[in-house]
Amino acid sequence: MKKSIALSCLVLMFSPVFSQQGNLVSTQVDPGYFITHTREDLMSKLMDLPCGIKPDDPVKTILQKVEVFLNAFIPEAEYTDDAFAKAANIQALKSVKQGGYGIGSVLIDKNGTIIAAAHNSQIQEHRSDLHAEMTLMTKFEKSPKARKYMNLYVYKPGLTVFSSAEPCPMCFIRISTAGCDTKYCTPGPEDGMVTRISCLPPSWQEMALKQKVEIGDCSPVMQKLSHLLFYSYLLDNRGPQ
Ligand SMILES: [Zn+2]
Repeated sequence: MKKSIALSCLVLMFSPVFSQQGNLVSTQVDPGYFITHTREDLMSKLMDLPCGIKPDDPVKTILQKVEVFLNAFIPEAEYTDDAFAKAANIQALKSVKQGGYGIGSVLIDKNGTIIAAAHNSQIQEHRSDLHAEMTLMTKFEKSPKARKYMNLYVYKPGLTVFSSAEPCPMCFIRISTAGCDTKYCTPGPEDGMVTRISCLPPSWQEMALKQKVEIGDCSPVMQKLSHLLFYSYLLDNRGPQ
């Protein structure tokens, strides 16, 4: 990688989050919150959530408490994407309870109706590609109802993939290739591709920017929960050893 490109990628990694329309999107959570490297750090953030989690709770109990909280959570009306954040987090939690990674996605039509939902299934199905967005799109594209929403492999305008976490390079390119808009709940300072679009090869960058690409308008608690579910693998060190 050329030095100038590497530098611009580095700058982007530490830049505030901007939508592709150029507006600063406030995450309303300290950006440092979205970096978690240890189980201790994860537990401390989980205990700060209003779920009643205690330091010695076993993983099963932690997940039960998160589930009770999430199911009872009423999306906050002032955040226009909070209902999608809740739906994506419910998917993420479903995966964690199955022993998988905690990322969920939903597909939204132009009227704001959720028409498909899925979660990461890499561990469950022993497949390296089954991130939440990939699982969502693969399952949807195989379903009979997809014909109404697709033109061959391209989705008709107005569909959005909403993910609990900022899509990775693989998923972001898949979403762009399909012609869907991209939205997500929690930023991925260490892995997300959306805030690094300028690092893509020019033609991929051009294709990605044909659609809307932005962080969702979600409440702080949903953003935090999305992040903590993403990093929940630190609870029991699940995944390849
Ligand atoms: Zn991905």
